Amino acid sequence: MSDFDIIVIGAGPAGSAAATWAAKHGARVALVDKAAFPRNKLCGGLFTERSRNYYREIFGQNFDLSKSVTRHDIAFWHAGAELAVLRDIPPLHLTMRLDLDNTLFRHAIDAGAVDFSGHPIAQISDNAVTFKDGNTLSAPILIGTDGVNSIVAKHLFGAAFYTETIGFGLEIEVPKATQNPTKNQLRIDFGALTWGYGWSFPKQQCTTVGVGGMRAPNPDIKAQMRHYIDTLGLDPDAIKFKGHHLPFGDFRKTPGRANIVLAGDAAGLVDPITGEGIAFAMKSGQIAAQAALDALAAGAPETTLTRHKIGLRDMHKNLRIARTLRRIIFAPRWQETFTETFRRSETVRAMYMRLLAGDLEYPQLARAVVARLPRYVVNAFRR
Ligand SMILES: Cc1cc2nc3c(=O)[nH]c(=O)nc-3n(C[C@H](O)[C@H](O)[C@H](O)COP(=O)(O)OP(=O)(O)OC[C@H]3O[C@@H](n4cnc5c(N)ncnc54)[C@H](O)[C@@H]3O)c2cc1C
Repeated sequence: MSDFDIIVIGAGPAGSAAATWAAKHGARVALVDKAAFPRNKLCGGLFTERSRNYYREIFGQNFDLSKSVTRHDIAFWHAGAELAVLRDIPPLHLTMRLDLDNTLFRHAIDAGAVDFSGHPIAQISDNAVTFKDGNTLSAPILIGTDGVNSIVAKHLFGAAFYTETIGFGLEIEVPKATQNPTKNQLRIDFGALTWGYGWSFPKQQCTTVGVGGMRAPNPDIKAQMRHYIDTLGLDPDAIKFKGHHLPFGDFRKTPGRANIVLAGDAAGLVDPITGEGIAFAMKSGQIAAQAALDALAAGAPETTLTRHKIGLRDMHKNLRIARTLRRIIFAPRWQETFTETFRRSETVRAMYMRLLAGDLEYPQLARAVVARLPRYVVNAFRR
């Protein structure tokens, strides 16, 4: 007899969603994290309406917005010039991950998951985890939601990600009391990185400033971050920033093996255009949990991966289309064309906005792009 039905490894948005969903549906769940909560996570903390909808569905309540800032306006910049300011856009909620993740983690424990946070793992096998203190937990199904540096992915595939295709982000929290870098503008800067962008997200106590994008074409991201900070009127030498990998379109076609499945960043589920990952982490956690519940009900834990892959089909399809479309936005040879089109076309701006706000799915966008944009952009798909 195993100690639990499911061990969820990693209690970020993906793990807390998986543990909540599985525990709510009667499974015996262990929720493991090396960190004790509340803990921080490097992130812009942009929580879209897509996230809000998934949150409601998975956690069974409305997201409490009292600690967030909700904005209905955004500015887009390129190379130090303002391209456009959009108003009356779908709401964008700016959260602090310390609060957000703690809330999600508490929901999982309230749903009945057993708390193994603050327990670093020494070893993983196909049916068990052993902690550094020597204690072991066993279960027929493991869900790996331990982020971009996933030790579960390493156990399965030998490495957590591929260095050529992974993304990277650098960020700082600028305290509101000391300076306000962009006159309180919620701001996106195209071109702050090659194959990526910069952001400035005003929150209640601070402004989160960062750059993120593909790692390989940006060998000196720190210099680019310093330059970006400088363009915002901040002193780059006075600010220490932190970095974190980001699976920016680097999703795993096979997210697991038999009874072990991956979700969230561990499965590479981050939007390759907007960098949104929280919504996909929560949703894929729920999908993994449902696959585990169905496999347990069938008495066949080894079928969890097959079920999980079926559950992820729509998400994978969206991410595949996004990866194709991002050439138009980020490829250096198309960047000027894109920013020019963005400045002139209200339709393109509105679409990008709906995408960022989680209000538009990629198949819809792809159809609109093919129908509306000039032929040379269409040709970019074929290269
Ligand atoms: C700079 C930057 C900015 C971003 N901005 C946004 C944004 O504004 N909006 C958005 O939607 N997304 C954003 N993202 C993406 C988003 O942060 C991730 O997609 C999201 O956090 C993924 O959730 P997760 O639960 O899969 O992983 P994580 O949030 O990384 O959680 C993983 C958990 O696993 C635990 N863990 C790790 N290793 C182990 C181990 N060995 N043993 C046990 N536990 C372990 C960690 O402590 C952590 O609690 C950003 C990412 C970066 C890097």
